[in-house]
Amino acid sequence: RLSMRLERVATHVPAGARLADIGSDHGYLPVALLNRGAVSAAVAGEVALTPFYAAERTVRENDLDQQISVRLADGLAAIEPTDRITAISLCGMGGETIRDILESGKARLSGQERLILQPNGGEQPLRVWLMEHNYRILDEEVLRENRFDYEIIVAERTGPMIYTAEQLYFGPIQMQTRSPAFLLKWQRLLGKKHKALSNFARARKAVPEEKMQDLAQQIRWITALLN
Ligand code: SAM
Repeated sequence: RLSMRLERVATHVPAGARLADIGSDHGYLPVALLNRGAVSAAVAGEVALTPFYAAERTVRENDLDQQISVRLADGLAAIEPTDRITAISLCGMGGETIRDILESGKARLSGQERLILQPNGGEQPLRVWLMEHNYRILDEEVLRENRFDYEIIVAERTGPMIYTAEQLYFGPIQMQTRSPAFLLKWQRLLGKKHKALSNFARARKAVPEEKMQDLAQQIRWITALLN
């Protein structure tokens, strides 16, 4: 059984896809999708040995060796042109890490793949990378599990896109749908940012002016969002 987080990720993988799950850890996502017949083939990529062996074991125990290739590789290096991958999932990593994996592996992207990204923080720099590489954000969601807010960002390369600073910060789709989970996340964050600002104000000399301004800007945006 998948966590609710990976269950939500799974809903964004197109039916019949050839999926590359990068940073697969135990390989739970590709194995669950193959077992359900939701994808037709998969690659599970892992950079670290222990999770790589764990993924191999999950695949073997589910008799899916023919359908899932488990590969020890850094990022998108796990993908070969002959895999004809149509969807790539990168889940459970920081947004900056996901961005760095996309950036250093961009030669391996055909541009036809759907990206299903589940960053743990660092969504803004990830969206900036997507915009700069002509990706359109098709879908987004926020979900809460184990007292943690997770985001999912689905994107495809469709041509030049321009997002505003606020859209890059909150997510363009999320700003439109304003789901309860999304609003709750930003309500909680607003409280934290107010606290951080008053801590900064107390220790003014130690904190660069630019950092104060940035935080004040975020507080203005969040306040406007919630009003
Ligand atoms: N994707 C799974 C999930 O969402 O439950 C596992 C998330 S786990 C917290 C992150 C995994 O990404 C780790 O197993 C780590 O070894 C792997 N990872 C980190 N950087 C990577 C990279 N550059 N290439 C491949 N895997 C990477």
